[in-house]
Formats: sequence, structure tokens, C-alpha cells
Amino acid sequence: MTLTANILIIYETETREVKMSRTLARGRKELEKHLNGERLTTTQAALAKCYSCMGEYCDGKVDCKIEGCPLYQYMPYRDNPPQKNKKTLSKEQIEAVASNMAKARASKLALNNT
Ligand code: SF4
Repeated sequence: MTLTANILIIYETETREVKMSRTLARGRKELEKHLNGERLTTTQAALAKCYSCMGEYCDGKVDCKIEGCPLYQYMPYRDNPPQKNKKTLSKEQIEAVASNMAKARASKLALNNT
């Protein structure tokens, strides 16, 4: 196999990887939605912006590392994604929530029966 053929094979493989990266990256769907004139949520808008800002992730799904950017908290490929706060409820809080839900259900039933 000639050197040119080897280079062509490497180029085609990279091109395929770049296309796959673009297709599967988060934000593409949201950007298309925006370009079609549809409304986006805040998170969707941030994902679309990062997709655009990162050049459609043609260099791979990597962290932009621009911590000063106001959208950085939404950046989908951060090296250290923010931890979600998992709220743990005490037994009393769980009972209070259950009681409130039961009251709400009862008042809804009463409204429906009138
Ligand atoms: S977080 Fe990074 S990728 Fe997203 S808009 Fe800001 S600089 Fe661009």
C-alpha cells in the first residue's frame, strides 16, 4: 500500500470520527430546534450555545475550560461536573409531605364531587 493510500485511509477514518462526534454531541438537537424557530428551555439554550461555541465539537467532546463563562455550569463535557444536591428528608418531613399530599388529594376529590 502506498503512503498516499495510507494517508487517505487515516483521513477518512478521522473524518468519520469527527462526523460521529458532531452527530452524537449534546447540543446539536437543541441548536437545530433553535434554528427551526422553536422555543428552548434555559438548559437547552445553553447546550445549543456550547455546541456552537465549541465548533460542533469537531475536536471531540472536551471541556472548554472557560470557567469565567456564565454558561460554564451548563457545559455538558466539563471535566468536573457540578454535583447535584441530593436532599435527604427526615422521617418527620416524609410524614409531613405524605400528610400534605393526602390533604391535597382529599380536597381535589371534594372539588370534583361538587
Ligand atoms: S461554557 Fe464554554 S463552550 Fe459553553 S458557551 Fe461558554 S465558553 Fe463556550
